[in-house]
Amino acid sequence: VINFNPGPAKVDPTVMAQAQKELLNYRNLGFGVLEMSHRSAEFIDIVDKAKTNLKELLNIPDNYKIIFLQGGATGQFSAVPLNLLNLSPDCTADYVVTGTWSAKAAKEAEKYGKINIVHPKLKKYTSIPAEDSWQLNPNAAYVYYCDNETVNGVEFHFVPDTGNVPIVADMSSNILSKPVDVSKFGVIIAGAQKNIGCAGVTLVIIREDLIGHQMKECPAVLDYKLQTDMNSLYNTPPSYSIYLTGLVLQWIKNTGGVTAMSRKCAAKSQLIYSVINNSNGFYHCVLDEDCRSRMNLPFRVGGPGGDQELEALFLERTKQANMVGLKGHRSVGGIRASLYNAVTVEETQQLADLMLSFQQEHA
Ligand code: PLP
Repeated sequence: VINFNPGPAKVDPTVMAQAQKELLNYRNLGFGVLEMSHRSAEFIDIVDKAKTNLKELLNIPDNYKIIFLQGGATGQFSAVPLNLLNLSPDCTADYVVTGTWSAKAAKEAEKYGKINIVHPKLKKYTSIPAEDSWQLNPNAAYVYYCDNETVNGVEFHFVPDTGNVPIVADMSSNILSKPVDVSKFGVIIAGAQKNIGCAGVTLVIIREDLIGHQMKECPAVLDYKLQTDMNSLYNTPPSYSIYLTGLVLQWIKNTGGVTAMSRKCAAKSQLIYSVINNSNGFYHCVLDEDCRSRMNLPFRVGGPGGDQELEALFLERTKQANMVGLKGHRSVGGIRASLYNAVTVEETQQLADLMLSFQQEHA
């Protein structure tokens, strides 16, 4: 099966094979990570190794801390304001809302402070409003955006200029798919279940000076100070998910690091976008060219609004070709191909070939 699911997504088969091999017996301990004490030296080693590999892969500067938390990226929609809003004298933060996930993050943050959407509300999520039109507040605690909108397929191919105001970015669906200058960010959050492992663990990378400003109401499990002080081990961590993330990080390292992943992601997305662009409108991608995601590619079949019958037929064809996960999100419709790190160029080529032959049959 070729897995184009938007999440929880494919993990490379070699990583899964290693996890399978170690499931009952990790490093000759006679038991597996699922049964291991999270206070044991072996587990602490798993956490530390994952942190070291991540630091190396993303070239994370020394003044940043890495923690592995529960609660998903959605938990971080609360954790971010709870930990950072106090940085602003009047509890305000700026949000750039370019899709479903940043909209949800802004809505959650409104529970805790004054949230300013820096541009007029978008009627549809198909573009990024020009940066020079954003109304940024120089006294905001932070500027928040989602680097890759998984549902809508809007990806930032630049890091916004926010002056001295720290940037918080949700990279759940594109972390480790491209090199990132971490020093430009205050906080990076990412659920693991797309590019770096399985559901259950969320990665937080945070600049040290932003730690320790949490509101008194901040739950302990979301408290960046407590969690960084305790090396993510304040309470029972999502131990198996952290272990699997560690294996994925090692796999990325062994296969050429983030630069190689970035090249692969560009090649894969190019294969699909070029079929769309050369299809004389048979396939249609509604997104502005400059913000098209390399990870989640939504498109319609049979014209801009999509032809429902053709789209159902297209999905049937992909099913016959053992491809899964291509149905678009219910709020967007049509088709969505998710090309996370573990999807290969060859698998993507098979989808591109199928699209071409489907067009020949039905255009
Ligand atoms: N942010 C982005 C970009 C996502 O794609 C998702 C989930 O798909 C989330 C946040 C929410 O993540 P979770 O389900 O881990 O809370």
